[in-house]
Amino acid sequence: MEHITHAGVKIALRKTSLVDYPGKIASVLFFGGCELRCPWCHNRELVLMESTEPETFIGHDDALAHITKRRNVLGGVVLSGGEPTLYRDLPVMICRIKDIGLSVKLDTNGMNPAMLEKLFETTETSPDYIALDLKLAPQRYGEIAPNVKKAEDSLRKSAELIRNSGIKHEYRTLALPIITEKDIIALAELTGSAPWYVRAFKPGNCLDPSWNDIDASTERATGMLADMIRTLGKDGIVGSS
Ligand code: SF4
Repeated sequence: MEHITHAGVKIALRKTSLVDYPGKIASVLFFGGCELRCPWCHNRELVLMESTEPETFIGHDDALAHITKRRNVLGGVVLSGGEPTLYRDLPVMICRIKDIGLSVKLDTNGMNPAMLEKLFETTETSPDYIALDLKLAPQRYGEIAPNVKKAEDSLRKSAELIRNSGIKHEYRTLALPIITEKDIIALAELTGSAPWYVRAFKPGNCLDPSWNDIDASTERATGMLADMIRTLGKDGIVGSS
């Protein structure tokens, strides 16, 4: 997928959230577009950038205007998606948000290590917190991203950059019915000591409608994955930060 330009960026806004940025009241900017097509994805409108209501999306300048207006009540801004690293002017946006005194959390699927490298070049453009999605073993990313070149390499590179960045971060995994012990063992090689959250999969509005017929993951299955992660010496936790 091409990088998204300033003119083409589409952002959906959650004005206030108490749960998306650990310990902070935050606004969340959901960037339209994503190079992956996870069949279980709940964000169809964002990923495909389709909405019957045009006012669903705003642009770069309107998003920053909103944040500036609410700077006194916010502690941070979450850049989520879709996939925010596809946005070419992400470094500019992060710089502007930090300029007005707010912290930045970046949620990413790890498919754009070049953008992460660019962000990490200066403190002005570095996020203050990063959440990296870990879905299946890196070698299985071809299953969810058949059209993305070198998806496995990209994930490995992004994980390495984040692990060595010195930036506070976390890992997130959905307890999908297709995830196996082998996936967790392979993913564990990418992680450091940061918290690794395991959340339950819930069907509904999935990108591939056949996933809506799949049973939600049970508390037991989610707990078992977190246990497995801890067995590997990592900080596996059920739930989200
Ligand atoms: S789940 Fe995340 S990475 Fe997968 S298609 Fe949806 S937005 Fe993209």
